[in-house]
Amino acid sequence: MSSNKTPHSLLKQVFGYSSFRGEQEAVIKNTLTGKDSLVIMPTGGGKSICYQIPALLMEGTCVVVSPLIALMEDQVASLLGNGVRAAFINSSLDIFEVKETEDALLSGNLDILYLSPERLMSVESTVRLLQRANISLFAVDEVHCVSQWGHDFRPEYQKLGELRDKFTDIPFMGLTATADEMTRKDILHSLHLEEGSTFIGGFDRPNIRYTIIPKEDEESQLVQWIRKEHAGESGIVYCLSRKKTEKISNTLIENGIRSSVYHAGLSSELRSKNQTMFLQEDNIVMVATIAFGMGIDKPDVRFVAHMDLPKSMESYYQETGRAGRDGLPAEAWMTYSISDAVQLRRFIEDSSASDMQKKLEHSKLNFLIGYSETIECRRKVLLSYFDESLEKPCGNCDTCLNPPERVDGTIDAQKALSNIYRTKQFYGAGHLADILMGSQSQKIKDQGHDSLSTYAIGKDRSKKYWLWLYRQLISLGHITVDSSYGSLQISKSGYEVCKSERTVELTVYKEKTGRAEKKKSVVSAYVMNEAGQELFEILRSKRQEIAKEQNIPAFTVFGDKTIYSLIDKKPKQHQDLSEIHGLGAAKIQKYGEVVLPLIAEFLETSEEVPELIAGDFNPKREPKNRIKKGMSSTVSESLSLFNDGLNAEEIAKRRKLVMTTVESHLAQAVEQGKLRLESVVQLPESELAAVRDLLKESEGLKPVFDHFQEKYSYGVLKCIQADMQR
Ligand code: ADP
Ligand code: ZN
Repeated sequence: MSSNKTPHSLLKQVFGYSSFRGEQEAVIKNTLTGKDSLVIMPTGGGKSICYQIPALLMEGTCVVVSPLIALMEDQVASLLGNGVRAAFINSSLDIFEVKETEDALLSGNLDILYLSPERLMSVESTVRLLQRANISLFAVDEVHCVSQWGHDFRPEYQKLGELRDKFTDIPFMGLTATADEMTRKDILHSLHLEEGSTFIGGFDRPNIRYTIIPKEDEESQLVQWIRKEHAGESGIVYCLSRKKTEKISNTLIENGIRSSVYHAGLSSELRSKNQTMFLQEDNIVMVATIAFGMGIDKPDVRFVAHMDLPKSMESYYQETGRAGRDGLPAEAWMTYSISDAVQLRRFIEDSSASDMQKKLEHSKLNFLIGYSETIECRRKVLLSYFDESLEKPCGNCDTCLNPPERVDGTIDAQKALSNIYRTKQFYGAGHLADILMGSQSQKIKDQGHDSLSTYAIGKDRSKKYWLWLYRQLISLGHITVDSSYGSLQISKSGYEVCKSERTVELTVYKEKTGRAEKKKSVVSAYVMNEAGQELFEILRSKRQEIAKEQNIPAFTVFGDKTIYSLIDKKPKQHQDLSEIHGLGAAKIQKYGEVVLPLIAEFLETSEEVPELIAGDFNPKREPKNRIKKGMSSTVSESLSLFNDGLNAEEIAKRRKLVMTTVESHLAQAVEQGKLRLESVVQLPESELAAVRDLLKESEGLKPVFDHFQEKYSYGVLKCIQADMQR
């Protein structure tokens, strides 16, 4: 690359971004002066740019060490899409392909080369090859794998220190999303990076909304939530067991949600097939065990759901971190029940770990329970685990959006606690609640619990209420849970409550978990008017088509944010495209001629101007009113062809328009009473009724489109809607 390029100009020209994020620029500057760096940034923080820009500015090839083949391949596909000369060498290549890449390296025709640590450290010829080449920079991704303290230790990584000694003049960069103090020290030491600088990006992921709901009927809770909040979007659902992933995936499919599974019990072909489908397509919900995730850098995962408690806060953070890498609003959602926590406790207890280890795991689990039960800002609690503090409540978690009202619950707490005391701290929450409710069960009679003073003193409330209260008291620390039996025990502060030395503040109990109406979150989602939604669908399906043609993931063509930016700016000419987010020179070259005519045609034929009503490009803009003045000439032209006997497809062909445009013309004709619905849409009345019902409840067409698994086109739905509006 020529020398008048700057980090900024490359960021715009190659990647299409207008400014650096967080520490990116500082890392790049440090590298350009030949120094080493350790970069710690959360998932989605933008670590890759830190070495990709220096790779383009420095003489020679940047070598990236990356542990996962799938990740490597995606990164290279993305870079090639941006016109960067990138390649990888791994076991998936045959000898000819390896030779070709080596030649490119030696002749100085590569900006970035990805290698696996195994290849680098165990194939000796690889090091010799690098010694013959002109290397600008070594970047080691997932660098926490060098440390035995970390959770992903890999022996090959530890040998990377030797590499450092062989290439003393070349800057090194280590990158990771997770590294506590201990791991960090280990990395600096193992890779001999002590002289370099450490850059820490902070753990907050402001675009992720955290939500935890009490588990009831978890499957229908999941289905309803996806339908309501994330219809037609990509997401990951995590479960503990393989069996459960299969079951939940089937439930989703039965409910019209596209879904696939991933776990270690599938053959490797099936795993990779499912993974590819998830990466390449726009709207698949992957139900998986934690075997799925490392190396999934799909930027437009809109939600991550946990059906079971994760192993620890670190795991929770990593797993939820796979949502919203593109910085657009995303959600981390979990259904939680205390019995899950009790079960995990039992697993820990029954494991063969040392007592020290068990103690550590119990305390990790306690934090997770506290987080799940908190009535404080959830993000605050989450960040406090990583020793970060947040000044104000975040405004983008369930407790902030729906602040629980508080009441004095001391008397009920005393009843619940004294009930534990009188039954000698032997029982779990279920039996305790039965006693308070005055249940006549055999177990109660057998134990003589119907003669206790606490028997039936809680009859004025429901059993659910008492179960909930026990959970609250656990989360407040007044009760502890015995790790092996799940029996509840009174803590020191609990005894203080019993003796009225301490009060208990509770949230107002709601029998139904159906939440009060939602406040608007501080992270504004992109909202478009109807024409905007239409154009979005047109551009999105074009993207899908290109991706399928080239067999690459859709997001490497361009991301959702690029589509929003296109709708916002409505570029007319080639030169306008340089203002679009995510389009660098190479992508403008490749896709400019594809998107410009689509937009132009849409603008020409749509009555309404597509607009972004909310979202960061344009925070507060009022929607333009729909202009409706009789029938426009383009609509009447389509209508008259239709009346001549042509169908929508034929009209589209004849007029050189896209189908959606013609269908929207026909819908307008229906709405204005110029065309009868039956002449456009031939469906049995029962099907029509089902569509109408759903249209009535839904906002926009997309949820309906997705619900019926694309059985009815947007055009058909639009006509039905137009007919209803008449
Ligand atoms: P990480 O490796 O830290 O998880 P990535 O490097 O994959 O993160 O970046 C996450 C997403 O953010 C990618 O889609 C990337 O293109 C985008 N991104 C990175 N830096 C910027 C920036 N300065 N401006 C806009 N988007 C960026
Ligand atoms: Zn919050």
